[in-house]
Amino acid sequence: MKKNYLYLAVVASLLGGSTYAQHYPCAADEMHQRYKAQSPAVAEYERQMNDQIQAYMAAQASAMPVAMKTTAVHNDTDYYDIPVVVHIIHNYGAEYVKDSNIYVMIANLNNFYSMQNDLSGIIAPFRPYIGNAKIRFHLATIDPVGRPTTGITRRLSYLTAGGDDQAKMDQWPPRSYFNIWLENRIGMSPATGTTLAYSTFPASAEAFPYTDGVITGYSYINDRNTMEHEVGHYFNLLHPWSTNSAGPASGICGDDGVDDTPPTDGHFSTCDLFDTLCAASYYKMYTSTSGIADSFVNYPDTTNTQNVMDYSSCPHHMLTIGQVWRMRAALNNNIGGRDNLWDSSNLAATGALAPTPDLPPVTEFVTRASVTSSVITLFTFPDVNLFFTNKSWRDTVTATSWSFSNSAINPTLNHTSYSAINGAFPNRFAEPGWVDITLSATGNNSGTTTTTYPKAVFVADREGIDPRSGYLEEFAEGGKRDKWPFFNYYNNNFRWKLANTGLYDNASMMYEGFDARVGVDLFKGTPAGDFDDLYSVPFDLSGYESGDCFLYFNYSGASRSSITTNINDSLIIEYSTDKKHSWTKLNVMTKNELCNKGVVNVAYTPSVMSDWAQKAINIPVAARTSYVVFRFRYKPGVGANTLQGTGNNFYLDRVGVSAWGVNVSDVGMAANDVRIVPNPTRGDAWVVIKDAAAAHADVYVTDVTGKMVYTTDVTLSSGTAKVTIPADAIRTSGVYFVQTVTGSQKNTKKLVVY
Ligand SMILES: [Zn+2]
Repeated sequence: MKKNYLYLAVVASLLGGSTYAQHYPCAADEMHQRYKAQSPAVAEYERQMNDQIQAYMAAQASAMPVAMKTTAVHNDTDYYDIPVVVHIIHNYGAEYVKDSNIYVMIANLNNFYSMQNDLSGIIAPFRPYIGNAKIRFHLATIDPVGRPTTGITRRLSYLTAGGDDQAKMDQWPPRSYFNIWLENRIGMSPATGTTLAYSTFPASAEAFPYTDGVITGYSYINDRNTMEHEVGHYFNLLHPWSTNSAGPASGICGDDGVDDTPPTDGHFSTCDLFDTLCAASYYKMYTSTSGIADSFVNYPDTTNTQNVMDYSSCPHHMLTIGQVWRMRAALNNNIGGRDNLWDSSNLAATGALAPTPDLPPVTEFVTRASVTSSVITLFTFPDVNLFFTNKSWRDTVTATSWSFSNSAINPTLNHTSYSAINGAFPNRFAEPGWVDITLSATGNNSGTTTTTYPKAVFVADREGIDPRSGYLEEFAEGGKRDKWPFFNYYNNNFRWKLANTGLYDNASMMYEGFDARVGVDLFKGTPAGDFDDLYSVPFDLSGYESGDCFLYFNYSGASRSSITTNINDSLIIEYSTDKKHSWTKLNVMTKNELCNKGVVNVAYTPSVMSDWAQKAINIPVAARTSYVVFRFRYKPGVGANTLQGTGNNFYLDRVGVSAWGVNVSDVGMAANDVRIVPNPTRGDAWVVIKDAAAAHADVYVTDVTGKMVYTTDVTLSSGTAKVTIPADAIRTSGVYFVQTVTGSQKNTKKLVVY
């Protein structure tokens, strides 16, 4: 039973801004055109290869009796053995397929490429033309550095969601291994259809070797002949309608350069077995090497709808003898390196012909806030469940044991040890701070692997915080910064880290957003799609039921691009009050606000005070509970038409909570006291008046020349007030004088604007 192709309106292009008209289940053609647009070498390699294919085919044909030139089975009877590595790029979702699914995929490929598949439904006109490719695929047993392997790798990455070429991580040398990647879905899915998979042709592979291989959505590895089709492209087969028509079922006839696949306009999710639109009266006259016509072949006058390289929905698929010839030509051609794959020394080096070894498991686990959540979290709250799932791989795991560094023993929860093979189990931690986790996984006859993960998860720690007196985090050593955990979920170079620079001191929190990839590395691991979290210490804000209560901070950011549409980093600030990871958005900083420093083309570090900006967000009353945590989620971005991240490093410093949006507290202020905060400032400043005897205050702000730049007055409440001096009034850097008059009291303070 064949499913219809899904149609989704999703726009994503990771390779560049070029637009091509056709988008179909297989994007091999489209990618080939993009590679060609990027490098003239692709077309040149293609031309060279075509010449060599012609010579190869002619040499094969000349060795045959005239009458057998087109229907003879290839005279090379040897099997070609191909080492394979399968890379599973996953986010622990459904794409995290079992090894057994990979074994089925390899078995299906071997059936098809040895003509062992079900060919009973192939229509009579094409039965004489069914080709046996005699290609066998083997999961490698030796990796590129000589270690034993099962030929399957797994990597956690956000790029599973449509990363495509950028998701082709961990590639093994493509002239030694046929690389296959599985991701959750192919991202190149513009309006006309969903792309299932694509392959590199040998000419593209020669120019862009770091893209070489097949990448597919995980759900198609054993469905619709998708892999059999892509492997055809990998060995240089074209779609039967060729590369230059308007695509399948367009009404425009094309030809793939293979004689026994008659011209066709192709099919799209149909199975029109007798389609003569382009194939009527199709024949070929062949000539001898001396140019004399010596054989006439009357090929079928209907298209080969059942060909695996078509998009038809027929239940049976085949290759033709001519296609086998073309694949064998690619297998004997150095362009793309397919000729090295089956070389005997390569088969020995990759262990392709050896049985898959029984290797002990690679331990791995995932943690989530609930059984049903798909979101990984490494942050939890005291005495709140966190769900652990064993994800150890490389062998069938028959037993696991877990130990946790700081749990209290409890019969139902708070485990210090646990054993669970499959399924998520809850654990909770009474003690705050980091938890070290040790996981042992026992394989089926292959031994046990034990791994300790230090600082694997963090239990929120409110201890020692009294927000009513104001809280300030400067991220300096010796402070509370260890209670602000940050997580690099995908273990890459885009991440929060402590920095040796800051405002007023040499410490701050930094998001390393500068994309340091250069050259060919730009083709893998784009920051687009990544995100990383910094969590605040939990606060008790229940004392702030009325009036203002600010989350405030200083920050400094830059961009590598001056084009607004290419500035795509963002900082999302959220809060949670329920200890259950229900996050509410407080503020999102983007574009010029986030990148206050403007364009910086090198890795950015703030150097002078004026590089820093201030921000204060009035916390909504709903968040002013006895337990609120703030989350700073940074998302690095890329622009259109670029492979490189367009963001830069971002710095966060002096994060605090107070009633004034700055680091000041009324605790300790004497009666009749006046303070100017922050001082120095770069934005608004506030005049804080405490316990004055009068009911009214006047404020006068003058610059150093004595010019009045701002005046205001305020009615005091119980002798107390907070008066804003707007940033607009004190735009020019320098010294100002702020005079506050309350009744008979006069108070003059200096205010520095930097
Ligand atoms: Zn295709």
